[in-house]
Amino acid sequence: MAVPFHRTSKTRRDKRRTHFKLKVTSLVACSNCGKLIRSHTVCPSCGFYAKKSVIQVGETVKETPAKEVEKKPAKKAKKAKETAGEKKE
Ligand SMILES: [Zn+2]
Repeated sequence: MAVPFHRTSKTRRDKRRTHFKLKVTSLVACSNCGKLIRSHTVCPSCGFYAKKSVIQVGETVKETPAKEVEKKPAKKAKKAKETAGEKKE
């Protein structure tokens, strides 16, 4: 196992650590509502990105029940089968 040849002095250690600091995030005004947001990020207050509404904020999106969507094609398929059966007879 490699072992440090010399002890690192307090000064040398602390000089190295001067670069360990947090950077302030750069904020940009939102194109829609003008609030300060992080750049290249969907606005959390209005849901806009690149001047377009991308997500709905604050409102719960009503989802159409999956059952209704599935039923309609099934009925058509049954009717088609019935009509096909009648034609053959
Ligand atoms: Zn916004």
